[in-house]
Amino acid sequence: MVQDCIFCKIVAGEIPSNQVYADEFVIAFHDINPQAPTHILVIPRKHISDMNEASPQDQALLGHMMLCASKIAADAGLAESGYRLVLNTGPDARQSVFHIHLHILGGRPLSGQMG
Ligand code: 5GP
Ligand code: ZN
Repeated sequence: MVQDCIFCKIVAGEIPSNQVYADEFVIAFHDINPQAPTHILVIPRKHISDMNEASPQDQALLGHMMLCASKIAADAGLAESGYRLVLNTGPDARQSVFHIHLHILGGRPLSGQMG
């Protein structure tokens, strides 16, 4: 656990979250400031600050996050209507929490602009 990391604190249960999924490797919870009708974050229990810090050792973990996201999206009823998975890294992407997290966004037609 990294001191002063808000998502490490959520993993540790020190900060409450509206959790929708948890397993040995990841947890998922509703974003506190949703940008779409469904906005869920999937995060690894392990602290990785951003994709620049991810290593080949994290390959299975990152794949697991993606597959969990698809299951969570399906459970949220988004499989047919669709959804967007977003993982921001660094200032140009406006990353604001430096513990990687996969955004699941859906529930309405999303902006056509990707960037
Ligand atoms: P980023 O901009 O780093 O890609 O996304 C960080 C996300 O974390 C934002 O969408 C923000 O609303 C969300 N967030 C920040 N702090 C908290 C928190 O304490 N609880 C929850 N559930 N979401 C948070
Ligand atoms: Zn962390």
